Amino acid sequence: MSAAPFLNVQNITVRFGGLTAVNDLSFEVQRGTIHALIGPNGAGKSTTFNCISRYYQPTAGRIVLDGQDVSHAPASHMARFGVARTFQNLELFGQLSVYENVLLGCYPHSAGTLGRLLRRPNAETRDLVDSLIERVGLTHDRNTTARELDFGHQKLLELARALALKPRLLLLDEPAAGLRNRDIENLDRLLKELTTRDGITVLLVEHVMQLVMSISNRITVMSFGQKIAEGTPAEVASDARVIEAYLGK
Ligand code: ADP
Ligand code: MG
Repeated sequence: MSAAPFLNVQNITVRFGGLTAVNDLSFEVQRGTIHALIGPNGAGKSTTFNCISRYYQPTAGRIVLDGQDVSHAPASHMARFGVARTFQNLELFGQLSVYENVLLGCYPHSAGTLGRLLRRPNAETRDLVDSLIERVGLTHDRNTTARELDFGHQKLLELARALALKPRLLLLDEPAAGLRNRDIENLDRLLKELTTRDGITVLLVEHVMQLVMSISNRITVMSFGQKIAEGTPAEVASDARVIEAYLGK
């Protein structure tokens, strides 16, 4: 008997005018696992992702998180449900330091105002921020402004900021894009650790197959808005429809 999924995407459809970007898509993500969404450009991955993080409202279907229907929850409430996301294009505060950027990620679960959080964070919050900065390997750059970091380190900073939310579900849109091999290896290790050690559930959209195949427990493959395959990395890699979707375009 399998456990109830942590995330259950049920028959979602998203239309933009006459274009059906996502067409009756369903998949389940088990708690504490890494689930990847892959597929050719324009397949509907980011649109699906944006429905789960509530930036888009699906035209039809349901999104159930830990047994709760969140299909109509506003994006601003998702932090309360324990959902954190990173963006395909970074959204950092360039003029603020690494430390301050991660500190701001604590805001949803901090008691006071934003100003107070920045000026006088409590010891527990400071410790959390420093431990996250260390975990993503940015201790050396703790006081560097975000805009001075190279792209790979900015992505790690965004991940640390998302973790500051203490998420139960982490949504990552192309976390490895633009990273060097060494940074990809660090990300690989960190994401595995987040699921096995911290029990976080991860859903990622990713093009870097080396990473997807190494870290994913399950993979859902999309093409033209629909699910064309699903399974373990080995099952998906040998699926004829997947090979055709990637090579036949
Ligand atoms: P992927 O992330 O798999 O590359 P997307 O989800 O970004 O694909 O896009 C799926 C389809 O939906 C594409 O044809 C894209 O042009 C279209 N699309 C995405 N977002 C919008 C939008 N906001 N308005 C209109 N069309 C969109
Ligand atoms: Mg995309």
